[in-house]
Amino acid sequence: KRKSVTVLGLGNMGAAIAHTFINQGYDTVVWNRNAEKCKPLVEAGGAGIEILIEAVAASKQVVICLLNNTAVDEVLKQVAGAVAGKVFINLTSGTPAQARDFAEWAEKQNASYIDGKILADPIDIGTAKAQLLFSGKPTVFDAQYPLLEKLGAITYYGEDAGAAAVDFLAQVAIGYEFLIGFLHTLQLVDQEGVDLAAFAHRVAGTLQGYGPLLSLMVNEIKLGTYQPDLGPLQVQAAMFDDLINHRKSKNVETLRMQEIKNLMDRRIANGHGAQGFSSLFELLGKQ
Ligand code: NDP
Repeated sequence: KRKSVTVLGLGNMGAAIAHTFINQGYDTVVWNRNAEKCKPLVEAGGAGIEILIEAVAASKQVVICLLNNTAVDEVLKQVAGAVAGKVFINLTSGTPAQARDFAEWAEKQNASYIDGKILADPIDIGTAKAQLLFSGKPTVFDAQYPLLEKLGAITYYGEDAGAAAVDFLAQVAIGYEFLIGFLHTLQLVDQEGVDLAAFAHRVAGTLQGYGPLLSLMVNEIKLGTYQPDLGPLQVQAAMFDDLINHRKSKNVETLRMQEIKNLMDRRIANGHGAQGFSSLFELLGKQ
């Protein structure tokens, strides 16, 4: 008996997922709100079904990849009451709370739910370069593993359906925080006449050193000792006026740098000037 799977959503990512399943020998049923997008998949060997409830009925495993979870919610509402025994694998980006809500909904429907998050470009789906994060019931995940591993390198985060989303949103956020800092700094060095490509290359080299620093900072946070990491805070803060003034002199945004300086000043004012940068951790949660 051939393996079968249904894919709901044929945007850039959903289409890449469906192509991968077709190439891996699955009988692949595809559905998209705008049915036009089924055509290339049908040409590649998939079966296009225009009626949502029929597409869902066609396979036990239903992979979903839509724009956001509001769209997923709309789609699932349309098939409620007709999904007992289905295994939904939702690869749409979203929050932990949304994932937990879908898991609860599925349970009430006598269906199963695995939440997945993709850290990859569509072109890399089906290769080891694609990182996919999953969470949900272990027995369900284990049974789906042969299908899921066709999509890329898999990490499983455990039973809590929201766990993959926690790590996904955290990693994406850190990426953006870093990249906005990079853009600010590029603006600065560009105005100083620095060769941007060579600069980017040097930054990439410097980044290698951050791996060990991250572990060191986590350790200091766990211990609560906050040993000086990049030097004592009072020494770091003294340099911050230079950083800010340099940016001001080139009309580059200073809001974020000012925020860091303010946090340092607060720690110093509270008598923690000999501690490291890791000690700002204390100021960043609910006060
Ligand atoms: P696209 O914009 O290419 O596709 C969006 C899809 O969602 C289309 O199939 C669209 O249908 C469908 N859709 C939107 N709203 C609704 C709705 N209300 N009801 C039914 N279907 C709806 O997005 P991508 O494929 O690129 O992204 C899909 C998911 O994958 C997102 O959550 C994204 O964050 C995630 N992802 C994407 C990456 C990427 O690089 N592209 C990388 C990592 C994750 P229609 O064609 O009818 O408009």
